[in-house]
Amino acid sequence: MQSTEKIAEVRQIIQKAREKGRKIALVPTMGYLHEGHVALVAEAKKAEAMVVMSIFVNPLQFGPNEDYERYPRDLERDARMAEAAGVDLLFHPKAKAMYPEAMLATVQVGVMENVLCGGSRPGHFRGVATVVSKLFHIVQPDLAFFGLKDYQQYRILKKMVMDLNFPIEVIGVPTVREVDGLAKSSRNVYLSPKERAEAVVLYQSLGEAAAAIRDGQKDPRKIEKLIRSRVDETSGRLDYVEVRAASDLTNVEWIDRSVVIAVAVYFSSTRLIDNLVVQA
Ligand code: AMP
Repeated sequence: MQSTEKIAEVRQIIQKAREKGRKIALVPTMGYLHEGHVALVAEAKKAEAMVVMSIFVNPLQFGPNEDYERYPRDLERDARMAEAAGVDLLFHPKAKAMYPEAMLATVQVGVMENVLCGGSRPGHFRGVATVVSKLFHIVQPDLAFFGLKDYQQYRILKKMVMDLNFPIEVIGVPTVREVDGLAKSSRNVYLSPKERAEAVVLYQSLGEAAAAIRDGQKDPRKIEKLIRSRVDETSGRLDYVEVRAASDLTNVEWIDRSVVIAVAVYFSSTRLIDNLVVQA
């Protein structure tokens, strides 16, 4: 595995691979890798492309009171895991290299940004869309892989790529979970043992909600209420639960199409998210 923090070096390596006719697949991450990230790499490997993983804790997507400083980082461990997973090139730029000066040009994706996680994290998705655009310009991949665990992010990036004519196929990869159902996340290490046990409520209540929809429940408010009451039984504090159109995240008054049930819960200051898509 090759590894560099330099943008210019990435460009050189990619150009050489392109000259040999290789396809390029990009897996953007913030590091502190787990099996969720490994699943993205495994999907990228299937495309028989050169797999580039970026590790960058992007300051632009963190709010002033969020966990940018304390976000877990361990580049050595990540490099070992990335290599074992089959990554060909690890790109781990410093913040100074990605943002040498204050940014004036940024990427916004309209109303999709301000709902769900965007409501609780103002500016978050502008930071995501901007850094992913920068990574797309640096790596110029044919394919890019994102986890469906961050469903809103996946939908926003799909729309961005279509609207701005990036010649890139955005591929969503199903959520990898712990044995009890909790979605794997770098932030799970923040949880106390009690919180870790309770955190399964996200997945369990989503499952119950999905079953209710399959049994004929059409009222999104009833679904939201079901999840709220399950979260209220724990020490978690519900940030939001919403049923929205799976295609474009717009509001639904009645569940008559494919929907995403999305939930965010705080355990102490740790914010966990999860979602399930229920097909019409
Ligand atoms: P992160 O490092 O948390 O920014 O995540 C990097 C990429 O991995 C994003 O596309 C995430 O959606 C994806 N990802 C994170 N956790 C999981 C998971 N449990 N299953 C599948 N993909 C994941």
